[in-house]
Amino acid sequence: MLNGTPASDGIGIGKVLIIEEHSLEYTPKTVEDTDAESQRFRNAVDEFCKNTLEQAENLRKSTGDKEAEILEGHIAIIKDPYLCGEIEKLIDDGQCAESALEHMCDMFIAMFSAADDELTKQRAADVRDIKTGVLSILLGVQEVKISSAPSGTVLVAKELTPSMTAGINKDNIVGIITETGGKTSHSAILARALEIPAVLSVENAVSKLENGQQVIVDGIEGIVIDSPDEVQLENYTQKRNAFLTERRELENYRGRKTVSASGEEYELFCNIGKPDDAVKTVESDGEGVGLFRTEFLFMDRNSIPTEDEQFDAYKKAALILKDKSLIIRTLDIGGDKDLPYLGLAKEENPFMGFRAIRYCLKNRDLFKTQLRAILRASAFGDIKIMFPLITTVDELREGKALVEEVKSELREKEIKFNENIQVGVMMETSSAAVIADLLAKEADFFSIGTNDLTGYTMACDRGNSDVSYLYSALQPSVLRLIKHIIECGVKNDIPVGMCGEAAANRMMIPLLISFGLTEFSVSAPSVLKVRKTISTWTKNEADEVAEKVMSMSSEKEIFDYLKTVI
Ligand code: PEP
Ligand code: MG
Repeated sequence: MLNGTPASDGIGIGKVLIIEEHSLEYTPKTVEDTDAESQRFRNAVDEFCKNTLEQAENLRKSTGDKEAEILEGHIAIIKDPYLCGEIEKLIDDGQCAESALEHMCDMFIAMFSAADDELTKQRAADVRDIKTGVLSILLGVQEVKISSAPSGTVLVAKELTPSMTAGINKDNIVGIITETGGKTSHSAILARALEIPAVLSVENAVSKLENGQQVIVDGIEGIVIDSPDEVQLENYTQKRNAFLTERRELENYRGRKTVSASGEEYELFCNIGKPDDAVKTVESDGEGVGLFRTEFLFMDRNSIPTEDEQFDAYKKAALILKDKSLIIRTLDIGGDKDLPYLGLAKEENPFMGFRAIRYCLKNRDLFKTQLRAILRASAFGDIKIMFPLITTVDELREGKALVEEVKSELREKEIKFNENIQVGVMMETSSAAVIADLLAKEADFFSIGTNDLTGYTMACDRGNSDVSYLYSALQPSVLRLIKHIIECGVKNDIPVGMCGEAAANRMMIPLLISFGLTEFSVSAPSVLKVRKTISTWTKNEADEVAEKVMSMSSEKEIFDYLKTVI
């Protein structure tokens, strides 16, 4: 049995598929038989083109023509007579195929990266992809494709990156096990959204488990049972059925308003990553979207989505939601969310670095393109804009000024948009929390991002299992900041929501009711559970609990106390 962090509820029983990142290192050699080496290179290119065509066809079916064309473009690049000719010349001079390929690709990557325009820069990312693809074939390294995993698969990986998880087919993957990541890592958030049981931070999972081995993933307790016996299989099948029954009982809360036992009404929204997730929001009875993580539109591709592609995505989500609220968070990249084609420099401290609103304010074309797409889509629904990682009032002002600039450009072109679109702040840094009184005067709404707020306040990385004992939104310091943010919002008459994972935490809910939160934004599968929990609290009872909690001085004390009242 292996232990880890329970990250997505449910029991999964299936066969292991290990996702390994292979090393593409090799020792450059001088070759004697240059004809044979050239042939080896040409064979690798043919295989690469064949694989790429297949992938493009699949992508055309699942996502669309534009994405498929990007991949087809890779074939044109590697078949380019100049590039191939130069590589073969190097091979004729005695270089092995690997180093000839790498030499020429690196030259093109450097050339494209140095260009001024975005489009040419993106070609560097294309060449990088091609280099990795052909090099993998030359070195005999097999990449496992998550999207084509067979049904009944349990994915096992050191880490599942957001772009890897974006390719998961929910019908085939019955469980996820990783060596890193906590409850609020993006793998966990995605696993919950897909309702796939997940256990993260399982030490040495990749070396301890084998491809094809049967395992049970208990995402409730955070346990993995390798090669289970008959009795264990029987017990866990029963446990899985009981879990599914409870999930069915929650159906009684479908179609109801979200009200406390004393009658206060709340908004219960969902967090989404793609426009199609808006369907899940409606299906799970979410009353709107409190957080659209737009970076997912930028992932799993080789170039920045165009204004029209983004407009289509935002408009699609708005139309699915009809008149329901749709809070669109502007691009939040950097930190644990890398976009290789942007060529972001590696940073010592990515969470403290050039990410989110900081990157957008310095890359105005990219930012204005997104704002234009959002504003155009605002003519089709109740769309609001939210800026991530705000730390100063100046950032909010600068962001709002750009919104105004884009608005006047659209006015000039007589393009429709919502003139009164609201602009809110994601409250996820300690700085923003401390100056919530100042920000509340200039923002239309707040949404508390407890995932980052907890990390920044506790100075602890949400994915690092060594410091996970500190990472809790129930820490007295984090609770004080949450309370302060909500009080500043209430004083300035702006709504305050919460879109971090703490919004769905049963222990946190009475505290949030007491502090005066008005909107909860959670993953789609949590909607009915949160509605049920809210319905069990009166405002007075919640106040009593909150008063006790706020007088306590340790997370453990708070946790132990809350366990007795929920
Ligand atoms: C947060 O930080 O709480 C949040 C919701 O944003 P993300 O998890 O996307 O960083
Ligand atoms: Mg965040």
